[in-house]
Amino acid sequence: MNQNVVGYRCLACLREHPSRPFQYTCGACGHNLDVIYDYGRIRRRWSQSALKRDPDRSLWRYRPLLPVTDPPANVSLQVGGTPLVSLDRRAAEFGRIWIKDDTRNPSGSLKDRATEVALQHAAELGKEILIAASTGNAAVSLAALAAFAQQRAVIVAPASAPEAKLIPILQHRAELILVDGSYDQAFDLVLAAAQELGWYVRNTGYNPVLSEGKKTAALEIAEQLNWRVPARVFIPVGDGCIIGGIYKGFHDLRELGWVDRIPQLVAVQARGSAAIHRALQSEDQIEPVEARTVADSIAVNFPRDGLKAIRAVRRSAGFSITVTDAEILAAQGELSARAGIFAEPAAAATWAGFLKARRQGLVGEEEEIVLLITGSGLKDVPAARQTVTAPAPISPNLDAFREALKGID
Ligand SMILES: *Cc1c(COP(=O)(O)O)cnc(C)c1O
Ligand SMILES: [Zn+2]
Repeated sequence: MNQNVVGYRCLACLREHPSRPFQYTCGACGHNLDVIYDYGRIRRRWSQSALKRDPDRSLWRYRPLLPVTDPPANVSLQVGGTPLVSLDRRAAEFGRIWIKDDTRNPSGSLKDRATEVALQHAAELGKEILIAASTGNAAVSLAALAAFAQQRAVIVAPASAPEAKLIPILQHRAELILVDGSYDQAFDLVLAAAQELGWYVRNTGYNPVLSEGKKTAALEIAEQLNWRVPARVFIPVGDGCIIGGIYKGFHDLRELGWVDRIPQLVAVQARGSAAIHRALQSEDQIEPVEARTVADSIAVNFPRDGLKAIRAVRRSAGFSITVTDAEILAAQGELSARAGIFAEPAAAATWAGFLKARRQGLVGEEEEIVLLITGSGLKDVPAARQTVTAPAPISPNLDAFREALKGID
């Protein structure tokens, strides 16, 4: 067991629970848990200079702050270690902007950070089979990284899931079970099945280990900025697990004394899927919505990590903002054209939210800002197709080519 881990604390009733036997949620009230660390112990055994000397570029360089004993034996697919790209030169008019490009994870999304830690955690608990309810990036991530780790993965998805998202899961030879029902029903079925069969659950907004994996994006941002804290980080929000993890990462670093504050966290939601934004506008009461947005990875009726998301925004003195589907698709094209980063709509929502906040005067011109780009556009090409038109073909001769050039400026 990782001696740095003290146990788990409930977000709602604040009761503490031991690491073993492992419980996903609070035994007393059923709400989600946070991992608690012995920061004094970590500080005595680990330092920024030790970290600097560590040649491991993957998220396992932060293993003292992860709720597992050992990194995976031998090698891993290198999850994490994604670049923090400066847009200063390219887009001077936007000021000091950084893009944390998490499209560059093995399966193309930030979800790999959570999966990587969950696979190791499951192995340490002696669980050979992992199960998850998801139609999107979490499922693809589990299928891919389980294939590398030679662990078994079972994905439960609603039958209505787009075929394009299911193909990679099948390619990785994960077990796919389609149910006649909604994502929420698939989620609950996974919990029931795992309880009966003793399998490990990788359901977002339920298993506390997942936000610990996701927090490594924050640890990397801080280290890449040489422990300078940016003014704000913009984060796309669906269930709220990512923003909860980013908060936790900066929180851990502040407890270690490696940074002096937490950046303001800005939750970007699609207007048609804004349960957390609405809660923040109404005394933090979360009411379910009927989610409808082109950004499928942040389309959520009832956010499963709502408490963590709200805490992240409140404690960081951040705010939330919503963007329309049209703004998201325009931002997707703009990010591709300006920065060379093809992001899926949910990730492009970050850029859309930043532009809107800038227009509304919610952020200053000179602030240092990090935009978290969470997933690759290659998994959802049909969404991107809506805003571009392919040219008509020409005859393969120079005259026709010159003619075609007239349309290009
Ligand atoms: C899952 C996901 C999100 C949203 O994360 P939550 O933890 O559900 O808030 C955003 N972008 C991408 C690409 C995702 O896969
Ligand atoms: Zn509780």
